Amino acid sequence: MKNDKAIVVFSGGQDSTTCLFWAMEQFKEVEAVTFDYNQRHKLEIECAQNITNELGIKHHILDMSLLSQLAPNSLTRDDIEVKEGEDGELPNSFVPGRNLLFISFAGILARGVGAKHIITGVSETDFSGYPDCRDNFIKSMNVTLNLSMDENMVIHTPLMWLNKAETWELADKLGAFQFVRDKTLTCYNGVISDGCGECPACMLRKNGLTDYLQYRGEL
Ligand SMILES: [Zn+2]
Repeated sequence: MKNDKAIVVFSGGQDSTTCLFWAMEQFKEVEAVTFDYNQRHKLEIECAQNITNELGIKHHILDMSLLSQLAPNSLTRDDIEVKEGEDGELPNSFVPGRNLLFISFAGILARGVGAKHIITGVSETDFSGYPDCRDNFIKSMNVTLNLSMDENMVIHTPLMWLNKAETWELADKLGAFQFVRDKTLTCYNGVISDGCGECPACMLRKNGLTDYLQYRGEL
């Protein structure tokens, strides 16, 4: 794999930034793709740009604003507050088919730039019930993508079976713990690094970080 080229689906958050570092260790050449779909904070795009600039990674930004046309939800609309799902319901941040679209477009882009590998930071372990973060979906998508273009691409999901603490551990092993902690944006309220501390995304990130720091004996 060392001689191959890879595309990372990249949002500027903790998970995809960890994946970016993972890819840089695995592949000779790495490019990143960010999808602009009117997410709450344009800052997310800016943050992604800053990270790729700093790491010297070629960055593609694709306009996916049609997503908010198809499925208005709390990530794409300012007038809807992010809420967790109750009683097994999906949270209202769910964008139906988001990874189906993102991976399709990433695959077409990959073919265009001659990349054989696609990396996405989806995880089944911590997943909020999003069906298109599951391992089965990704495997099915991999087959479909190759059939659709008569290609031989591989979708990699380095975080698939990791919880949030283990994702911090992976960043640490890749020498990127502090970088990921300081420069990524996970917070629904648009606060970089440790975030607002109160939204669902911050809670999840903070709990994982606390677990990992305890494991390292620093708390
Ligand atoms: Zn927050």
